[in-house]
Amino acid sequence: MILEVIKADITKIEADAIVNAANSSLLGGGGVDGAIHRKGGKAILEACMVIRSKQGGCKTGEAVITTAGNLPAKFVIHTVGPVWSGESVEKDALLANCYRNSLKLAVENNLETVAFPNISTGIYHFPKDKAAEIAITTVSNFAEKGKIEKVIFVCFDDENYQLYEEKLNRINH
Ligand code: ADP
Repeated sequence: MILEVIKADITKIEADAIVNAANSSLLGGGGVDGAIHRKGGKAILEACMVIRSKQGGCKTGEAVITTAGNLPAKFVIHTVGPVWSGESVEKDALLANCYRNSLKLAVENNLETVAFPNISTGIYHFPKDKAAEIAITTVSNFAEKGKIEKVIFVCFDDENYQLYEEKLNRINH
């Protein structure tokens, strides 16, 4: 599995799946969630509504998959990150679950390239350094990583980009 970091708008990424930092309603929101729904069009929201009617949304740490509508990616994997409220091993574990469960869904759907945003580091205020450490560790240790060709960490701000670059350089050298 190749690990990459880029600074970009995730809605422009051509991957088998892009991951959305959604909220448990699956009805869209601000940040990356808003951008994905806005640019992907109503097909994504419609697919989320079908999932809501079956399972009533998505719990923190879990993930669901939908069409990517008008986006260049093939699918959107929606996962719900934890809201930061101070140090907590439970919250760390929930953030790790987001990455693990998203990759599990990718494998189940035979998807080989997955792009992640920096889940929980926006409106949910998770500390960026800690979130990056959890993201990279969890993806690197994913049990079925042989089935994933490439994971792209798509950073939107310089701070996250620098954190990921440093951490990935340390792994690769
Ligand atoms: P959360 O509620 O999980 O914190 P946010 O969407 O507020 O979700 O933020 C998650 C991360 O996504 C933040 O680092 C934010 O800068 C980033 N982000 C916002 N818009 C985009 C975008 N279009 N592409 C990639 N990342 C984005």
